[in-house]
Amino acid sequence: MDGWHDAADRFGVPRTDAVLLALNLYGLQTRLGARVRLQVSVPVGAQARTIVIAAGRPDSPFTLADSGQLFAGAELVGAAVRTDVDDAVSGYLRCWDGTAWRAATINPASRSKCTGCAPCPTSLEPTADPRLDTEDELHLLLDGLRQQLPHGGSLRDLHEITVSTACYESEDAALEAMMVLRKVLRSRRIDARIVLLSSVVRSREAFRWLAEHVGPFGLFLTADCVTRRNLILKKTKADLLPELMPALLADAREAGLDTSFTYIVGLDSTKDMEPFLSAMLPQVTLFPSLQVFQAHTPVMDGLHTPEADEFSYFLNARRIVESVMVDAANNLVPEPWRCYRSLWYESYAGQPLEGPRR
Ligand code: SF4
Repeated sequence: MDGWHDAADRFGVPRTDAVLLALNLYGLQTRLGARVRLQVSVPVGAQARTIVIAAGRPDSPFTLADSGQLFAGAELVGAAVRTDVDDAVSGYLRCWDGTAWRAATINPASRSKCTGCAPCPTSLEPTADPRLDTEDELHLLLDGLRQQLPHGGSLRDLHEITVSTACYESEDAALEAMMVLRKVLRSRRIDARIVLLSSVVRSREAFRWLAEHVGPFGLFLTADCVTRRNLILKKTKADLLPELMPALLADAREAGLDTSFTYIVGLDSTKDMEPFLSAMLPQVTLFPSLQVFQAHTPVMDGLHTPEADEFSYFLNARRIVESVMVDAANNLVPEPWRCYRSLWYESYAGQPLEGPRR
């Protein structure tokens, strides 16, 4: 892991992005703890942003003093203004634009009970996310979100509600859940786009049905990785072949849905990752969630591709994505609030990144 700052200089990546990317990758060198949520300023005094990272990583260069000062080795690189144990909850607000919360993430299918994906940290977290998927239970969940709003805030300010679980076992189960959610939102006159993280919604009929009955709707296909899928992912994800995914996104887009995907950077070699991203990126209408692979345990350490031992692997992934997006004439840019373990923070393709950060 030595030399991550030199690699960032070689790639022309700003210091802030290099620090945050490395922090996501290496986690925090605390004695205890599996996963923490930080509101962190990098450098000290900068606008705070949310990140969720592994803790209890003895080899990490990053330490957090009781005062909140964040060090990389002996160097002060930032400050945490808030530190929480990351727990699996039923819902939380995101995308604070200075006047209102514009997005929420909800977890009605009890993500913490879902198992089967080796890189998934959910089972390591404390949990407070009972299954809440009937109409009455969804109203309760939304009431809980409303209580988190500032004075004068309204859930009608939301532009997007993401259903964070990829745990639905079948396409029909996912469609039914989306229909119930839309019904509940309509009854409260909330017109936010529903975004579902899923691998089980795959058919053109389903996309058309969602556009007609649930829209506005976005599909974030949980692609996650290209190689070793049977080993790494649960069956309902692994049985979707990566070579079918670009056409699946194209079908969803054709039906009138927003489209995007999740992908974990650090599991596949560059030679497997690059053609996959080149095929997927032209099909998105929302910038994808390209997440730095975070290992929380020594067993998870063993999942990464050997190339990911080098920090430059991640910088090269940034470069690949930027170049494919330019070639596809796609002017989407990362939305900093959307991904807590992103490849980008302050800058994208040499341009500053603006917008909400938490
Ligand atoms: S589908 Fe996989 S990644 Fe998603 S919550 Fe379940 S185990 Fe975790």
